[in-house]
Amino acid sequence: MFDKSRELTKKLTKLNDFQREILYSSINVHGHICGGMPLGFLAGLAALEKLGIERERNMDSMLVVYVGNNHAAGCFVDGLQFATGCTFGKGLLKKEPKGKWEFLLINKKNGEAVRGRIKNEIIEGAFNAPFMSYRRKGVNPTDVPEDATHDVFLKILSTDFDKVVEIDGPFKYEIVRKKPCFKIVKCSRCGMYIAENYISLEDGTPVCLDCFQYGR
Ligand SMILES: [Zn+2]
Ligand SMILES: [Zn+2]
Repeated sequence: MFDKSRELTKKLTKLNDFQREILYSSINVHGHICGGMPLGFLAGLAALEKLGIERERNMDSMLVVYVGNNHAAGCFVDGLQFATGCTFGKGLLKKEPKGKWEFLLINKKNGEAVRGRIKNEIIEGAFNAPFMSYRRKGVNPTDVPEDATHDVFLKILSTDFDKVVEIDGPFKYEIVRKKPCFKIVKCSRCGMYIAENYISLEDGTPVCLDCFQYGR
């Protein structure tokens, strides 16, 4: 697996060393070679460039994705989060499911954003590719033959950004800043610690959402 990821990334001469290293890690974390993840990765790189920011290491940018649940090419979201660094765990990835390969990348520092979407002809190409035929037949991505995955993967990541993704902006985007919570409270019923912004009150005593018995 690791050797294969290294071998693939080495062939992508259009990417710089940093991008290749991130992509190498992304393949390993994602777990298989497919068409959706590299599309998201490329779109993420294009959006960073258009917005004029680096891959996020802290919490200064934010990604909103409109990919839905339970449909093909959902792996697109992984590529986007790996390329931009706006990861789910850092709370920088928000999913608003609409079944679209569209997203918003926001620079929280200056309130600028770009909106990206994969071009129709690229989506059509992905849905007509042999990889998708295997997936429709119920073949797991790791069991799809390499000739149906590696070529597509390399082809996507060797294409110019503007042939794959359309990006509007930068434009102003209004950010509602909320204070992060640094306090913990013990649930009066189960005894577990919970972040204070998630407590509920029952008869005036704090309880966690699992112990909360009122209807809302
Ligand atoms: Zn995938
Ligand atoms: Zn509880």
